[in-house]
Amino acid sequence: MSKFTSKLSMLILIISVFLLTACSSGAVTSSPSPTINSPIYTTTLASPTLSSASPTVSSASTTASLSTKPSPTATKPISTNNKQLSGYVIGIDAGHQLKGNSSLEKSGPNSSVMKAKVTTGATGNNSGIREQVINLQVAKKLKTKLESLGAKVVMTRTTENVDISNKERAELFNKAHVDFAIRIHCDSSDNRSVNGLSILIPDSKNNASIYNKSKRLADSLIGPMCKSTGAANRGVIQRSDQTGFNWSSVPIVTVEMGFLSNANEESKLITSSYQDKLVSGYAQGILQYVKN
Ligand SMILES: [Zn+2]
Repeated sequence: MSKFTSKLSMLILIISVFLLTACSSGAVTSSPSPTINSPIYTTTLASPTLSSASPTVSSASTTASLSTKPSPTATKPISTNNKQLSGYVIGIDAGHQLKGNSSLEKSGPNSSVMKAKVTTGATGNNSGIREQVINLQVAKKLKTKLESLGAKVVMTRTTENVDISNKERAELFNKAHVDFAIRIHCDSSDNRSVNGLSILIPDSKNNASIYNKSKRLADSLIGPMCKSTGAANRGVIQRSDQTGFNWSSVPIVTVEMGFLSNANEESKLITSSYQDKLVSGYAQGILQYVKN
């Protein structure tokens, strides 16, 4: 076998020398031949495994070069989509807290009305769940979502056991210079059949400086939020009595995500999957707001 191999290699060497001579002489006499001769030369010397492997490599590189051509246009919008909120600072207030605070504070800088610092909020009729729990769950999910879109998020609270008044929550957003803020709440009614989603905004008289943007934010949010959840649209409502609005110098809205007094909505609001739908609606609405 070794004798045969050495004979074979000698033969290959002779052929190679012959081809090399032919190649170089051809190069002198005629120019088109080297391009034809050189592949034969390399194929003869190269082992069969290498030559068979090389076509798959070259074909792979061909598809790679083909796929890389359209990818710059394909990757550009994706990266923009991922960080559409970069540069924005967004405030999120998970409404209420573990224990209400009935101490009083002025409901606005120009108001003589005194209101409780924080109320306890609504409670689910069937599950007994407090809205402050759901509000915080949704707030945390929304924070994650908005950060994934590139926004900086300022939270008034990340735990249940805090004591922050509605005035203090508004001032926290003012000091952080948020671009806009969203107060997350659940609704309640004595009429247990009442259901749906509404958004509260500051009134145009007392809060003229933040009214237009707050209204536009609410208008942007309510459609996508009702669509993603299937909740009834109860509209955008002006409120002049909200401490959290009256002390705000930044555009601000309160989303009343649904009624904990309604058995059907309560059963949805407590589930993570429905909260995800709400968050999806929030994100779509916010993206719509910043585009305009
Ligand atoms: Zn509430």
